[in-house]
Amino acid sequence: MLSRAQEARVREVFGRHPPGTIQTYCLEHLAVAVQIPLGHLADLAAFVRTLREHGACQTQYGGICDAAGHETTPLLIWGPPTPMLARPSDLRGGGRAS
Ligand SMILES: [Zn+2]
Repeated sequence: MLSRAQEARVREVFGRHPPGTIQTYCLEHLAVAVQIPLGHLADLAAFVRTLREHGACQTQYGGICDAAGHETTPLLIWGPPTPMLARPSDLRGGGRAS
């Protein structure tokens, strides 16, 4: 489990970038950015999944980590382009096709 202070730093990192831009992180560099020991990467990954489910961040497998400009294959994480993207469950399974 991450502490509340650690969770707050993760949210802050995802909200820090200027609107309309994205700052991507691999899991390791996100841990560095929010000062979470590398031994807690699994906890960080679990928290990232929770954030993603709430629309507070997005993830994909593979891409360029902006934090250090390297390519990563396992997991790439970034905050939403605008902080208002949180749309809980109405986006999936609604059957609203257009
Ligand atoms: Zn990285």
